[in-house]
Amino acid sequence: MRTRRKIEIMKLDDSIQFIKGVGPKRAAMFHKLGVHTLEDALLFIPRRYEDRSRIKPIAQAQADALETVQGEIKLAQQVITPKGKKFFEVTVGDGTGIMTAKWFNFHPKYMKTLFPKGQRVILSGLVQFNSYTRYGKEMLHPNYELITSAAEDLIHTGRIVPIYSATEGFNQKTLRAIMKQIVDQHADLLPEILPEDLKQRLGLIPVVQAVRQAHFPDNATPIAQLNQGNSPAHRRLVFEEFFLLELGLARRRYSLHQQPGIAFVPKTGLENKLRQMLAFRLTAAQERVLQEIKQAMQRPHPMNRLLQGDVGSGKTVVALLALAMAVENGCQAAVMVPTEILAEQHYLNLHPLLDKVGVDTLLLKGDLKAGQKRLAYDRISAGIAQVVIGTHAIIQQGVTFANLGLVIIDEQHRVGVMQRANLARKARQGFSPDVLVMTATPIPRSLALTVYGDLELSVIDEMPPGRQPVKTRLLFEKDRPRIYRFINDQIQAGGQAFVVYPLVEESEKVDLLAATEMYTHLQQDVFPQLKLGLLHGRMSGGEKEEIMLRFKNRQIQLLVATTVVEVGIDIPQASVMLIEHAERFGLAQLHQLRGRVGRRGQPAYCVLLAQYGFQIAEADLRLRGPGEFLGTRQSGIPDLKLANILRDAGLLETARKEAFDLLRHDPQLKQPQHQPLKQAVINKWKTKLELLQVG
Ligand code: ADP
Ligand code: MG
Repeated sequence: MRTRRKIEIMKLDDSIQFIKGVGPKRAAMFHKLGVHTLEDALLFIPRRYEDRSRIKPIAQAQADALETVQGEIKLAQQVITPKGKKFFEVTVGDGTGIMTAKWFNFHPKYMKTLFPKGQRVILSGLVQFNSYTRYGKEMLHPNYELITSAAEDLIHTGRIVPIYSATEGFNQKTLRAIMKQIVDQHADLLPEILPEDLKQRLGLIPVVQAVRQAHFPDNATPIAQLNQGNSPAHRRLVFEEFFLLELGLARRRYSLHQQPGIAFVPKTGLENKLRQMLAFRLTAAQERVLQEIKQAMQRPHPMNRLLQGDVGSGKTVVALLALAMAVENGCQAAVMVPTEILAEQHYLNLHPLLDKVGVDTLLLKGDLKAGQKRLAYDRISAGIAQVVIGTHAIIQQGVTFANLGLVIIDEQHRVGVMQRANLARKARQGFSPDVLVMTATPIPRSLALTVYGDLELSVIDEMPPGRQPVKTRLLFEKDRPRIYRFINDQIQAGGQAFVVYPLVEESEKVDLLAATEMYTHLQQDVFPQLKLGLLHGRMSGGEKEEIMLRFKNRQIQLLVATTVVEVGIDIPQASVMLIEHAERFGLAQLHQLRGRVGRRGQPAYCVLLAQYGFQIAEADLRLRGPGEFLGTRQSGIPDLKLANILRDAGLLETARKEAFDLLRHDPQLKQPQHQPLKQAVINKWKTKLELLQVG
């Protein structure tokens, strides 16, 4: 049943179903396109544009050029060549000439009804000249649109027309006609949220005009600009999207600066003891970031800092010394990591050092029995455990700290704004703990500005002395015997090796099976003389720990593993890694994985074995967007619908600067002219963060 409503009472958040001409069936198709409300529809910007303002007379259509012509169907038929090849041809005339359109994969009956004689049609495509046919000019598999009424001409031809992402059952023409009506009748509903002076300064057009132009541009608009998403209309809409995002992030940063935090007192007793136990001196870069972190910890507001440093640049020791400062100030510190195995790894590395200086360190494992768990929680809530190491469980499962002062989040390209916000709830008497996020992911600057846009940045830009880059080769199936010989040589020379399998989801049984079978095959058929081990995410914490320990103690020489080794594993003797199905990994993952070999500074090798065409996902980000790059759900940043952080990086920087400037003048967005903006920020971020309530 369709409900008709008067135009005047439509609201932006009304369901798309109630728009004239839509109804339940088409609403369902809109839903598939991510369009649920009237507002979604208005912001459902075309995928590309075609300039049909210059429809050519057929006589003037040039061979080898992309042309659009319009005419009447003279003939539509299936043709069978003498050699038995079939194609369907539609002959179109416009009074100046004849154009033949050809299709090679087709259903004759369907085509016959689709292209009745006398029907008017628009064809666009590459014109070819075929000397065998009578009229010569033809298009193979052209884009086509049927024109049924004069009124339609005004929407679908004679102008720059929008081409939308369509879904099955929704043809361009129908979709375009609906969009035309929506834009004409409802675009005015969009509120203007950008302050007047800002628009003037940046030369941004009003939102209503932008939406109208983005859908049905004036013919004067350069088509290339439109297709690059760079027209004034696009720029205005993209700016607005970025601006709301950055305002949220800026707001969060300001509110953190105002919240009461712990002002740690600089103490170096513990730090010096720990330094003496290290087998090396810190690099200049490590010293510098440590100072930055310690200074931030001394301020009476929560620290929120990103420590970026390549794999192997030595972030852990910086973290250790920051922990020491928190502990020496009588606070507890937590180290949060994405996987159990990495938690165990950190525990193995840190607790011997911390033990020696009398710091109580607790590994909070996921598979503790109820009794053990209670004991662990008690130690944390009583303040006995001074350093707690574990996964997200640390903040998620009602763990109460006596006085949590510092949280270090390691290898977390997966922890977003949301989880960090949760940490504040662990605060003691309203004092939010300091937060240090460590990442090795080489984040593009534009991404850092969005996802980590509320963090301050420290960078380790120097490797410990003596490190050499891991030699990386891309090889294929035919090279397998050679690769195996190389691995064997490395192990005979005292090295250890990883063979890594992709496992996108830990539940993907097929992948798991592949890894397990490969392990058996390698042990029995390829390396019977070597000691192999298998490690995967389905194992219990205890099993994993045992395998890891045996690998570390060199009782295992070659470890077959799923991507659980991705982050943080420290096996000093490992010198070679074979990555199977390398084409299935993203760039960030490969980078992380490769960092697992050559950790003592010895020559190290990484073999990427690809099954088929392989392009490392430099385009990762472009393809999957920032949300997925970081793990969508957790990243906590609002989705970007129109903006593309790579393509529109310049606008992002502008938006960020403007957002921070604006909040400097009106931190709470209290001024009357900022009210629509404030509302929009709240809507955009929803309840994700209590952004504007704070402070
Ligand atoms: P990441 O930044 O990838 O977390 P780690 O902290 O695990 O790197 O350090 C990698 C290795 O380098 C470790 O074995 C660590 O002991 C060592 N290391 C760290 N800092 C230095 C240094 N200044 N000089 C020599 N070795 C160092
Ligand atoms: Mg690390």
